[in-house]
Amino acid sequence: MPFSYRSLGLLVGAGTALFSGGFLAGRRSAAPAPLALGEKHCDDADLAHRRSLCTAVSTLTTRHVNTMGSGNAAMCVAGPQGEKWVLVTASGKGSSAQPADLVVIDAQTAAPVFSGQPKPSIETGMLLQLVEGPHWDEGKTAIHTHAAPVVAACAAGTAIPAFYAIGGGLLGCDADGSIPVAGWAPPGSEDLARRVAEAMLPAGANACGMQGHGAVVVGKSPQYAAILAEQLHVTAEVANSVAASGNAAHAWRPDARQHRDFRHYLQGSAGCCAPGPAAGTPLAASRPHSPA
Ligand SMILES: [Zn+2]
Repeated sequence: MPFSYRSLGLLVGAGTALFSGGFLAGRRSAAPAPLALGEKHCDDADLAHRRSLCTAVSTLTTRHVNTMGSGNAAMCVAGPQGEKWVLVTASGKGSSAQPADLVVIDAQTAAPVFSGQPKPSIETGMLLQLVEGPHWDEGKTAIHTHAAPVVAACAAGTAIPAFYAIGGGLLGCDADGSIPVAGWAPPGSEDLARRVAEAMLPAGANACGMQGHGAVVVGKSPQYAAILAEQLHVTAEVANSVAASGNAAHAWRPDARQHRDFRHYLQGSAGCCAPGPAAGTPLAASRPHSPA
């Protein structure tokens, strides 16, 4: 049976019981009463959004960017009345999530919009901060992976040098042309969400290493976020190889201006930084061309 909200038995009622503590509990008091989801939003466009996010995260496992089907993701979607909602992967689903495994969360209150939904990811608080800041845009997507090369590259808790200009050009680098890193904090904790937001948002970065844990990226669409996750993976692999060679101190690396120039080049030549493809567009169709 094809997915529909009705298949989940969604009714008007109390849905906030899903959040039984932890980081989100502090935001629950402002939660609106859960809404009934009518025919209008049970349409192909909604399903296409869900499929688009699921395709993006599953592709990262296929490409070995993520491990063991883990990780999680969130995508901004508009409700039928223009509400600012966020689709979040259900707890334990990660990159194996199917369209019915996505939880609709109110972006402002972090409360579930509908009753009967699965429990959202443990990292929902972190993901919401990233897709909300600095502003909510439909399609905007955050993807969290457990990419081993990124974990290795940020083991010391210091920024990941972007020797790889293509990756650095697409990823929002800090002032010295590096990928920011958030220091260790327990998974799912408010402290981790705060550390990641502090590392990324002031710098305008769209990628971040998470010490001892993984990586997170933010893109204008699920497909573009997946591209960023793959580019962060490769950038970390290059950084690890340069470090292993013992030449890191003498290796050339582009600075922030050069990264910016390269990003402009990519925008002009490959179109990979243009507005994200329509929901449901296969990821393979949205990949950037290799620059000359
Ligand atoms: Zn994680």
